[in-house]
Amino acid sequence: MKYIVVTGGVLSGLGKGITASSIGRLLKSRGFEVTGIKIDPYLNCDAGTMSPFQHGEVFVLVDGGEVDLDLGNYERFLDTDLTSDHNITTGTVYRSVIEKERRGDYLGQTVQIIPHITNEIRDRIKSVAKKSGADIAIVELGGTVGDIESMPFLEAVRQLHIEVGHENLLFVHTTLVPVIGVVGEQKTKPTQHSVKELREIGILPDIIIGRAKKPLEDEIKQKISLFCDVPVHAVISAPDARNIYEVPLILKEQGITEFILEKMRLKPGKKDLEAWKGFVSRLIAPSKSVSIGLIGKYTHLKDSYISVTEALSHAGAKEDTRINIVWVEAEEIEKETHSESLEAVHEHLKDVNGIVVPGGFGERGTEGKINAIEYARTRNIPFIGLCLGFQLSIVEFSRNALGLRGAHGSEFEDTPYPVIDILPENIGIKNMGGTMRLGHQRVLIKKGTLAENIYGATEIMERHRHRYEVNPDFIERIEKGGLVFSGKDEVGIRMEICELPDHPYFIASQFHPEFKSRPMRPAPMFHYLVKNALVFRGKK
Ligand code: GLN
Repeated sequence: MKYIVVTGGVLSGLGKGITASSIGRLLKSRGFEVTGIKIDPYLNCDAGTMSPFQHGEVFVLVDGGEVDLDLGNYERFLDTDLTSDHNITTGTVYRSVIEKERRGDYLGQTVQIIPHITNEIRDRIKSVAKKSGADIAIVELGGTVGDIESMPFLEAVRQLHIEVGHENLLFVHTTLVPVIGVVGEQKTKPTQHSVKELREIGILPDIIIGRAKKPLEDEIKQKISLFCDVPVHAVISAPDARNIYEVPLILKEQGITEFILEKMRLKPGKKDLEAWKGFVSRLIAPSKSVSIGLIGKYTHLKDSYISVTEALSHAGAKEDTRINIVWVEAEEIEKETHSESLEAVHEHLKDVNGIVVPGGFGERGTEGKINAIEYARTRNIPFIGLCLGFQLSIVEFSRNALGLRGAHGSEFEDTPYPVIDILPENIGIKNMGGTMRLGHQRVLIKKGTLAENIYGATEIMERHRHRYEVNPDFIERIEKGGLVFSGKDEVGIRMEICELPDHPYFIASQFHPEFKSRPMRPAPMFHYLVKNALVFRGKK
């Protein structure tokens, strides 16, 4: 097993996850099986209880793991399905050490950060890597070198390096190279300091990746090489890319793959980056374009919807189409009266060719989303609803097409018509962590429907994360009104997909199709949204 440990210096938000995934993609393109492990030094056991406002989207894995969004990047860049144990947090590490201590497993020892916590971290990294069956594991350490909370993890990877030997573990350090002053000089001092900090811990980086707006100048590379003790060709530039999927190509040009292969004595197989290059060029310079309205409530932090926006760009690349996302804050399309609201919706959405209402929790912004759904439904604008977007499509239809005034979901308010209600298995559950209906669940699709047409199948597996569902008491009434439930669970009780037969493209799902979308295999609901948006645009 080979390990590549990616650390970050100077500050967070440098795109360490993208860098790590890109390195993985490059090694994969040389014939190796690559996996990704993300370490998050916070005390939460998983990302499931964390607000998208602070950390961006909660990504959902096949096994129901609610994890850091970087795992989504790994899945997309490496085209692989990961499991929850690939996200190691301080919370899970401490929880299992404390459980072992309570069981008496430590046989009277004083239980300490070193060696007990560090051993636990090391064992986890090794066992996850081994279980994955990969040749190479990319281990990304969240946070910034120097943070108190990342110390035990840095110490653990330092020990792992000694244990497995230098040719089996490589350190990649990503830093910021700021530009100062009117002349725009690139500055290496922050990089020098963060490498110094790493060396104090006993870690000597093999590769330094410098984030800057523009490529690092040769002189700057030489300076970093000299001060940080790495060969000059191991100082790699990571300038702003036009698109995240371009990053592997930018790194490759500078010889990073060869450097890694040589250092780790890896014998590469086939070279295969052509399809990826084609995908990137369609993303960067497509011949067509559409505008898609995205109605959210965390729209100022774009990372909150990263899988949705990625799925849109995968779909766009497939159709040689640029996607201009029109971000709409749901509360801005909620007004005093119904007609004022629809006017506000029109103001925001009159130029879009398609609309997405994504997932979410809580009451805030729901009325705005419902207004946008009504606009899409009544004006024949291509539409997809995801999870909460599906539930609110049912609410909108119940209120405005069936005349059930005040219909709503019981998550939001007391209502005479709770068309969306809590899952029976969630009644009385107090713990918020890991208790929703999560991960892969089978969905059976009705023959002859739009869903069957776009999936080309009558049985699919999709990822879920919800606590509420369509209330079975209303299913018959809703179907009589003309909305078709074209996807259900295996027993036929849980509604999974709804669609409107007399609309050009109106489809919504209780599951999250965005989590399965991959660069060259867009999720069908997104792919057909873009196709239909192009048709809609043509008609305008
Ligand atoms: N809040 C809704 C539920 O719990 C939808 C969740 C979501 O969009 N992920 O069912």
